[in-house]
Amino acid sequence: MFDKSITAYEEAKKVIPGGVDSPVRAFKSVGGTPPFIQKGEGAYLYDIDGNKYLDFVQSWGPLIFGHCDKDIEQAVIATAKNGLSFGAPTILETELANEIVEMYDNIDKVRFVSSGTEAVMSAIRLARGVTSKNDIVKFEGCYHGHSDSLLVQAGSGMATFGSPSSPGVPADLTKHTLLCEYNNIENLRKCFKDSSDIACIIIEPIAGNMGLVPATQEFLDECRKLCDENGALLIFDEVMSGFRASLTGAHGVVNTKADIVTFGKVIGAGMPVGAFASSKEIMGHLSPDGAVYQAGTLSGNPVAMAAGLVSLRKLKANKEIYETLSLKALRLVNGLKEVATKNGINLQVNTRGSMFGFFFCDKEPKNFKEVGTCDFAKFGKFHNEMLKKGFYFACSQYEAGFISTVITDEMIDECINAANEVMSNL
Ligand SMILES: *Cc1c(COP(=O)(O)O)cnc(C)c1O
Repeated sequence: MFDKSITAYEEAKKVIPGGVDSPVRAFKSVGGTPPFIQKGEGAYLYDIDGNKYLDFVQSWGPLIFGHCDKDIEQAVIATAKNGLSFGAPTILETELANEIVEMYDNIDKVRFVSSGTEAVMSAIRLARGVTSKNDIVKFEGCYHGHSDSLLVQAGSGMATFGSPSSPGVPADLTKHTLLCEYNNIENLRKCFKDSSDIACIIIEPIAGNMGLVPATQEFLDECRKLCDENGALLIFDEVMSGFRASLTGAHGVVNTKADIVTFGKVIGAGMPVGAFASSKEIMGHLSPDGAVYQAGTLSGNPVAMAAGLVSLRKLKANKEIYETLSLKALRLVNGLKEVATKNGINLQVNTRGSMFGFFFCDKEPKNFKEVGTCDFAKFGKFHNEMLKKGFYFACSQYEAGFISTVITDEMIDECINAANEVMSNL
């Protein structure tokens, strides 16, 4: 049933490293061949072998209205007809910035870029520029894109100073990244004892890149407090949670305000977009107003802006969407939990708005290490069998899942029934 994808994968591997343009797509952690996608339509993906899947990945988050939403599609086509890029200002950028500014009372200005990676990288430069400090605090298991100083893992010696997690990243760059355990207040305090040169904390307030692991309110309070006491800035990486966890992202569900917020995914509705945003004082440091340099040939691309604009306006005009999405996410994970229990399997589940996660383990993981104790083999089998039954889940236990507005209760119930069959044989 995957014959054409298997051939396509072989062909791809000849000219593209690993056959993919982003490593997770290669299905390494679950095994098997990634289906090559022909098209998306509403809640479904279709691969080149003609298989149809209910899509819980949503291009890793951006497609909150599912595939080929008519309003977004029309806006993209109409805008594209006027030219794909100008490298000059358009009104669309101001309009999209206004939509974001209106939603967040801690944001006055937004700078658009072309990816989440760029957004975070630029936000960190801005934080360093504003504070005139060098170190950054990052948490294990949070993903902030693939820029050099963020590709760190726990070093062997001093606990807090990270070492490169990829060849090609000089240790000279990661030595400024202090690595901390997520949801571990003591550990975080130690970072601030170890260094008086901390420019910022960068955190996914709702971590979605080690599976779904939300930060506790207590932990976020401590992040805020330590930043305030030490003249550091707090960056919320909302590339995933922005306009996903709620209409105001994580800010809508936690009681902590960040100094800088990064966006991506949903604000581009499937087009390549990222953004970082802050108060006018902090953004005033950014060129051309200030001295912190940042630029991009395709930044604020009109087609991407048009897609994001329609998407955000639709979300704002239909705020009840978030309640509906949350309920659907809960229906899914509660259903999965129920059939797991019935089949004697320990499954930990969680949701935040339209984001959901499940772990094959005995207790809910609170940090990266605990996620590492989950049963990855079981997850892999579950993933493979669900795929064969037409349910497309993220191909790694370290990824979150997403509900889109076009996923119905009936579709979710079909998924739970399929999961019941799969789990009875796990
Ligand atoms: C996806 C993601 C990024 C990176 O965004 P890209 O567009 O893939 O570069 C950064 N931070 C978080 C929290 C993300 O989920």
